[in-house]
Amino acid sequence: MGKALIIGAGGVASVVVHKCCQNSAVFTEICIASRTKSKCDALKEAVEKKGTKTVVTTAQVDANSVEQLVALIEREKPDVVINVALPYQDLTIMDACLATKTDYVDTANYEPEDTAKFEYKWQWAYREKFEKAGITALLGSGFDPGVTGVFCAYAQKHYFDEIHYIDILDCNGGDHGYPFATNFNPEINIREVSAKGSYIENGEWVETEPMEIKRVYNFDQVGEKDMYLLHHEELESLALNIRGVKRIRFFMTFGQSYLTHLKCLENVGMTSIEPIVYEGKEIVPLQFLKAVLPDPASLGPRTVGKTNIGCIFQGVKDGKEKTYYIYNICDHQACYREVGSQAVSYTTGVPAMIGAMMVMTGKWKKPGVYNVEEFDPDPFMDALNEWGLPWIEDFHPTLVD
Ligand code: NDP
Repeated sequence: MGKALIIGAGGVASVVVHKCCQNSAVFTEICIASRTKSKCDALKEAVEKKGTKTVVTTAQVDANSVEQLVALIEREKPDVVINVALPYQDLTIMDACLATKTDYVDTANYEPEDTAKFEYKWQWAYREKFEKAGITALLGSGFDPGVTGVFCAYAQKHYFDEIHYIDILDCNGGDHGYPFATNFNPEINIREVSAKGSYIENGEWVETEPMEIKRVYNFDQVGEKDMYLLHHEELESLALNIRGVKRIRFFMTFGQSYLTHLKCLENVGMTSIEPIVYEGKEIVPLQFLKAVLPDPASLGPRTVGKTNIGCIFQGVKDGKEKTYYIYNICDHQACYREVGSQAVSYTTGVPAMIGAMMVMTGKWKKPGVYNVEEFDPDPFMDALNEWGLPWIEDFHPTLVD
């Protein structure tokens, strides 16, 4: 059918590459391009060794440079660009897609490198330009954001007249055996969890101190875990796109060892993004920390256990109150056996491939900039079952107080 240009060669990109190569009827060709070309070449070798009909090429690119990106897109002529580099590159890649009239898919919203504040305003500002260019930008097609938004659209379409409360629960019951490591890019992960928490109530943001709100939840196939309320980017778009919603909260599980290490690193200044001068050179403490922590890509073989991520809804159908919980369970070792990555990269990479497939096959193609919940969820939901992230429904869930 067509060609995807995959930008980035990290944990998530590796899963996207494997999944596109499994789905070679849609992805007849892919080009993997990243800052470090040797990582792209290693990915190409890995998928070719397994056997695929997809033609794989690689390239070097600095995705901070619109000029380099435009030259690459003009040379490779992809139908869609899948951005699985870092959120800092979202706008340059969107600019390059505009210049070349190429569809765009990502998994995380733009974040300026120096402010640690993620929101959609920068990318939503491209709506008119994408409409005029006749191209589609699909934002946040990972798991959360991503599948969580599709779950919301599905609940709205099939089960509710009005959704009043949404709780998104992200549980990682995996154990990698290290005292401290992050499951995806440490810099992005630590920026996310050390920020203030927030949720949406009656159309307003309510801010909390970091990790101020804690709950305990008994997750199917994982067990009882502590979870904490975090700010999360999909709250912003869901508050606009889910009709009648009164409150949306996001909770993520953390173990005590992770939190104690994080507190200590914070207390000594290692999580700061303010540059300091060390031996005559400017360094950002958090970037230095990233360099000494285990590479998330190396966690695959050692992580055991499961993730359980989903949404609990409370609302009304035909005048009656109703609750509904939909979630996916993913096994770290099963992911590793299939694609050589742990479940956090897997649960992000599979929906990125599916999002690109939705755009390429025309099912989700509409000029403009869209979040996943703005499209018909049904074909995406079918693809989740088909491509490795089947979902489970519970019509009488335990609610979060
Ligand atoms: P990694 O750090 O493992 O990989 C990032 C890749 O991007 C690396 O290969 C890196 O290159 C490349 N890169 C960085 N800067 C540039 C640049 N200027 N030009 C070209 N390539 C560059 O991150 P992950 O794979 O864990 O995460 C990828 C994305 O997925 C992130 O945006 C993250 O926020 C998002 N994500 C989304 C989730 C969701 O559910 N929606 C969940 C988890 C992650 P190099 O190898 O040279 O360092």
